[in-house]
Amino acid sequence: MREARTEEDLRLLLEPAKSDKSIGLVPTMGFLHDGHRRLIASASTENQVVVLSIFLNPTQFGPNEDLDRYPRDLERDVRLASEAGVDILFLPDTRAMYPDGPSRQAIWVDPGHLSDHLCGASRPNHFRGVATVVTKLLNMVQPQRAYFGQKDAQQALILTRLVRDLAFPTEIRIIPTVREADGLALSSRNVFLEPAERSQAPALYRGLLAGEAAVSNGERDSRKIEARIRSTIQREGPDIQVEYIRVVSLDGLEPVDRLDSNALIALAARVGATRLIDNLIVRFEDGVAHVG
Ligand code: AMP
Repeated sequence: MREARTEEDLRLLLEPAKSDKSIGLVPTMGFLHDGHRRLIASASTENQVVVLSIFLNPTQFGPNEDLDRYPRDLERDVRLASEAGVDILFLPDTRAMYPDGPSRQAIWVDPGHLSDHLCGASRPNHFRGVATVVTKLLNMVQPQRAYFGQKDAQQALILTRLVRDLAFPTEIRIIPTVREADGLALSSRNVFLEPAERSQAPALYRGLLAGEAAVSNGERDSRKIEARIRSTIQREGPDIQVEYIRVVSLDGLEPVDRLDSNALIALAARVGATRLIDNLIVRFEDGVAHVG
C-alpha cells in the first residue's frame, strides 16, 4: 500500500493505473470499522486499483457538532487499510482539500431540495459540505466507481444524483449496512456510547424491524408506520431521544403520506450525547413491498 498526502502525490501514484486499470474510490472520515471494510472489499472485487481516502471534512460539520471530538486512530487505520487490500491510501490535510481554507471556499455543490428533509433539516450545510468534498475527491482520483454505505442513505441518494446531474463519469455503488450481531449499525461514533447507552442503542434497528413488519402486514399509512417504529424504540430504549422517523420517497426524499412506491424509512436519534442514524428501504416489485 502506498500513501499520498497531496493531490500531486496522488496523481503520481495513479498515473500508471490511469490508462488501463479500473480505479475504485472509498471515501471515509477514518476510525475504520467493518462497514468501511465491506466497502473496501466491494471496491477490491470490482476494480484493479483501490483508493481509500481518510479526510475529516470540516465543511460537513456544523459549528456545534463533534468535529473536534470525532474519533481518530490513524495508526490503526493504516494497518486496517493495508490488511483490507487498499492500494493507495489518500490522507490529505485540510490545505490539500481546501487550498484557501474551508471558510474561503467560493464554489459549493448544492444538493438543493434533496437536503431539505431528514438529516438535512437539522444539519443545514452538512450535505453541501459532503457533496463538495466528494466532488473534489472524484476529480482528484477520477475513479470508475465510488463506494458509499446505505447506512448514510440521504448521502448515498444525494451522491447518486450528483454524478447524474453533473455528468461525472463515475458509477456510485451503494453497499448494504453492516451491523453488530444485535442489529446496531456500525458507526465510528458508536465508540462514544456508554455501556448503558450501548445496550439501548439496538432499539433503533428493532424499531425499524417493527416498521418492516407493519409494512409486510400491509400497512401503508406512513404516520402509522412511523408511530409503530417510535413506540418500539420508546419501549426498548426508553432513554433514547428520537430526532425524526420519516417515510420519504426514494428518489426525491420528500415525506409521503402513503407508502405505495419505492421509499426510505429513515431515523435519527440521540443515545446519550451520541447522534445515530439508521434506515430501511422499501421497494415495490409488481405491487409487492420488499423491505431491506
Ligand atoms: P464515514 O467514515 O462515517 O464518513 O463513512 C465512510 C463510508 O462508509 C460512508 O459511505 C458510509 O456510509 C459508509 N459506512 C459507514 N458505516 C457503515 C456501515 N455500518 N455499513 C456500511 N457502510 C457504512
